[in-house]
Amino acid sequence: MNSGLKMFCLLLSALFVVLLLSPAAARATAGAVVVGRGAPSVEIAAQAEYLLDPTDRLEYSDIAREKPSFQRHAKNSFQFSFKRATLWFKCRIAPSASGADDPLASRRSFLVFDNAALGSITLYVPVVQNGKPGVVKLTGGWQQGDKSREFPFLYPTFALPDNIDASRPVIVRVATPFALQFRATLYTIDAFRENSFILFLIIGFFVGILVAMILYNLALYLFVRDRHYLLYIVYILFLLLWQCTLIGLFRYFWPPLAEFVMSYIAVFASLMMMFAIIFAVVFLNTSRTAPRHDKALKGLAAFTGVIVVLVLLRQLWLSNLLAYLSGQVSLVLLLTAGLSALRSGFRPALFYVIAFSVFMVSALVFIFKFYGWVPNNTFTMHIVIFGSAAEAILLSFALGYRIRVMQEEEAQLRERERNLETISVTDELTGLFNRRFLNASLVKKIAAARRSGTNLSLLMLDVDHFKDFNDTHGHPEGDKVLAALGRLLTDTLREEDIACRYGGEEFVVILHNADKNAALETAARIRTRFAGLSFTPRDGKDEHLTISIGAAVLTPSESGENLIFRADQALYQAKQTGRNRVCNA
Ligand code: GH3
Ligand code: MG
Ligand code: MG
Repeated sequence: MNSGLKMFCLLLSALFVVLLLSPAAARATAGAVVVGRGAPSVEIAAQAEYLLDPTDRLEYSDIAREKPSFQRHAKNSFQFSFKRATLWFKCRIAPSASGADDPLASRRSFLVFDNAALGSITLYVPVVQNGKPGVVKLTGGWQQGDKSREFPFLYPTFALPDNIDASRPVIVRVATPFALQFRATLYTIDAFRENSFILFLIIGFFVGILVAMILYNLALYLFVRDRHYLLYIVYILFLLLWQCTLIGLFRYFWPPLAEFVMSYIAVFASLMMMFAIIFAVVFLNTSRTAPRHDKALKGLAAFTGVIVVLVLLRQLWLSNLLAYLSGQVSLVLLLTAGLSALRSGFRPALFYVIAFSVFMVSALVFIFKFYGWVPNNTFTMHIVIFGSAAEAILLSFALGYRIRVMQEEEAQLRERERNLETISVTDELTGLFNRRFLNASLVKKIAAARRSGTNLSLLMLDVDHFKDFNDTHGHPEGDKVLAALGRLLTDTLREEDIACRYGGEEFVVILHNADKNAALETAARIRTRFAGLSFTPRDGKDEHLTISIGAAVLTPSESGENLIFRADQALYQAKQTGRNRVCNA
């Protein structure tokens, strides 16, 4: 046979084989899930049939023999909430179409179960090996001791063999003590890479925010030493631990820790809740601002302790269900407590309410996803960490705002105290100091003068014939004279001198660093200026009044009372010798 004929026969038989096999191949792949160009990822749930085994009695052999009846699923994700059952599902999967006309491209595909908390996953993958049908068993999940072919990722992920047989279904068993809800997504290698890159970017960003907020507020705590910051840090820390566990970061970065961390996820959730409550109770001061919420919140905080105990007793399913339910109750309580505190006038509650509202919206979406009311997608799957990051930032604002409000209130209080203090030493009519202040300040002034070796003088003033003025023009007109004398003293004296209304129409002036001459000079100036004032009572013409002044210079070892006594004597002398004059003791 010549080579041309040989070639012809070979081609003919090849064509025959292709013609013979292609309908079978088409039949086998028809209805099987396939990813490739145009469809880089496919949700398995929508195409799968499932079966729930509440008693966990079924084995792969039972399923393989097609004894139990499967139901069509038709939803985009598997949603069974906290139903206690083992889930079996099956679906035919074809090799990735990526490599169909590019022999170098991989025909492997990745199956991702996007819930890190799934305990145990077993895949029975039909393959064709050396032309013979076979089954490859792949295992994964945090409860699965011997993981085989689980690809390192946030979620349980399996690289499906490229010799997968599309004519028989892949059979999957999923068992978990947590919520039975996840998407099973088939990706081409490229789509998986791209998707996981974006996912890491998003998660990294939000986890980064939470870590940054913890560090930032830790620095603030070290600076201001306010326990609110410490409570905030502990709360956000448990929130972060809970989120990182839920997202699968521990699984990914520290696989040996995965099982330990995952089985304690309810502890993180409970402690997070507990510290959220303690933070709220302390921050909002609920016993005063929201008394009705106070007891409920404290009761709930105690209940979270019970959940922790349940986890320690290895009641994982129950503890998770309770953590999940009490989480919903605590969200409502935490938010309404903030509103109540805001209504009672606690201003910093504003940022708190905004923070919890944002978190609440994200949590509601997450919860609604549970009940299948919102779609399960990458956004709704990770919305809690978006909400947590926003909440952490807003709560940090709340803390800062609280300190500002406190500072403002303290400043107001100090101002009020200062005002009260001023009022208590001020004479209302003249604006000068009163007698109480004179007694206290005279002692201090004398001590200071002795320490510094300077002179101290004291003047005692009295309006001449004031009684007559009062009798003629009335008490109110007399008051105007006293007020004018007060202004005159304030204007005439130096900062360091002290003018007091001693009583009635008598005044005392302490002259700082003033010897006899200086004292007499000041006294003369006061006297002349006062004499120059003219008063115009409403019922008469211009009136002029005079004052008499007694001056005394402090002698060594003299007491304040004695100084006043001597000035009073000098005043008496001034009155006796004709008034409108200054006399010296
Ligand atoms: P002398 O020159 O001797 O001091 O005569 P005088 O009339 O001023 O006598 P005296 O100092 O004893 O009189 C005090 C008068 O001052 C009696 C009272 O009518 C008047 N007075 C005391 N306190 C007030 C006050 O707060 N307002 C007014 N308008 N008058 C006062
Ligand atoms: Mg008098
Ligand atoms: Mg008088």
